[in-house]
Amino acid sequence: MVKLQQGTVLKAPERFFINGEWVQPASDRRIDVISPVTEEKLLSYPEATPADMDRAISAARTAFDEGPWPRMSARDRASALRRVATLITERLDEIAWAWTTQVGAPISLTRKLVPQNATLFSHYADLIESYPFLDIRHRDDGGEVRMLREPVGVCAAISPWNAPMVLLSYKIAAGLAAGCTMVAKPSPETPLEAYILAECIEAAGLPRGVFNLVPAGREGGDYLIRHREIDKVAFTGSTAVGKHIMRVCADRLARVSLELGGKSAAVLLPDADFAKALPSLMVYSMPITGQVCFSLTRLLVPEARKAEFLDMFLPAVQAIKLGNPADPATQMGPLAMARQRDRVEDYIAAGKAGGAQLACGGGRPRGQDKGFFIEPTVFTNVTPDMKVAQEEIFGPVVSVIGYTDEDDAARKANATPYGLNGAVYSADPERGFAFARRMRTGGLTVNGLIVDPKHPFGGYRESGMGREGGPEGLENYLEVKTVHMAG
Ligand code: NAD
Repeated sequence: MVKLQQGTVLKAPERFFINGEWVQPASDRRIDVISPVTEEKLLSYPEATPADMDRAISAARTAFDEGPWPRMSARDRASALRRVATLITERLDEIAWAWTTQVGAPISLTRKLVPQNATLFSHYADLIESYPFLDIRHRDDGGEVRMLREPVGVCAAISPWNAPMVLLSYKIAAGLAAGCTMVAKPSPETPLEAYILAECIEAAGLPRGVFNLVPAGREGGDYLIRHREIDKVAFTGSTAVGKHIMRVCADRLARVSLELGGKSAAVLLPDADFAKALPSLMVYSMPITGQVCFSLTRLLVPEARKAEFLDMFLPAVQAIKLGNPADPATQMGPLAMARQRDRVEDYIAAGKAGGAQLACGGGRPRGQDKGFFIEPTVFTNVTPDMKVAQEEIFGPVVSVIGYTDEDDAARKANATPYGLNGAVYSADPERGFAFARRMRTGGLTVNGLIVDPKHPFGGYRESGMGREGGPEGLENYLEVKTVHMAG
């Protein structure tokens, strides 16, 4: 049993979900999950090995090649997905606690965000009921052309630890909606949500082999992406691993969609109302202790108003309530794991060594002798070439960067290899929109930050390839077939 909080207990995972059954692992290899709050072992569970992966892939292959799922009407697939959505809704509290317990994300936040998982399944159910899987066009000679959109095949879904359920749900909901069959490999640090999802899919009565769960670490993921029976890899994680997956998949031209890292900018235009911008900056510059791909980690402020900005921003950051993420009053929990804290501390040292000025934070908070806590940290006098302005830190570290005019702001906003997200603040929303057009990123919000699973999300440049959410997310899992009717 895994105790998440008083009254919320999950069965510790002991089996894999393959071909519609809970099966015994092929080996006795196990993975430990460490609590970010107590630094003690939270649970241990079996790790899938190549033999388990082969079994899962073969089940997904048979379900795709011979089973009913890809051939079923979109309406029937939609009703199955709606059943999954309902079952997820019944378990939202457990999903929120699983996230909080494994990752250290505050319960106040995880409770707010978990309904997105059910939304994704109902969203794709709605979408496929009207999606043109068959589209009739005509040639110049008047002949009919039937355009079919068909599922890509067997897909591997590989997800990271920071937002375990939603990043898996994006892939599974869209892939299943398209008619694909799925092999899921969650992050080794966060297996619990994938088990909840598997139980919901089982209870919803989806056909055997359509969804398979084989939790593993890096090695298991690597085995999966190299497997010739995997037609597509849907990946969310670091840019380094994303590049590796693309190289491996290139060998057999397996399809890939990649949701990778980010170094997103919030640009406060010269006419921005700072007080109005503050609430969204406080939530989204360091969400989940800064461990969110779309965090607004670079704050671009007019040089002439920098002091005014810092006078408002720094006290607000210093007032963030750090503590046990299970406490509803906590605004920031610990980092998710020891290696994350090492990484963030290295970046803070690099910021200081590189000439950035530490305006607040930078150390471990006093009074927290257990847990991977780190203070929310702000650097000022940051220039775009500095390491802290270029690389994804994945921690609560924000850089304030001054700019002279809008051209300078656009240049600086685009001066990293990434292009995931961004925000523009202006008293005039159309001026904000005009500036948004100059930013080379896959998503932006004018005067705030919105990520809505019903609309596409993804990156330009080294932030990824393809989109998740909305019809574009479905198209990640579809091939186009052109059938000419010649007589
Ligand atoms: P990671 O790249 O280390 O791991 C992600 C997943 O890939 C894990 O399941 C891991 O086991 C697996 N993996 C690792 N090596 C592999 C290999 N060689 N072959 C196949 N699978 C392999 O990333 P992480 O530390 O788990 O997550 C943090 C990263 O994820 C950050 O860079 C963050 O920006 C990114 N992220 C991106 C988005 C997005 O939507 N763009 C969302 C969340 C997180």
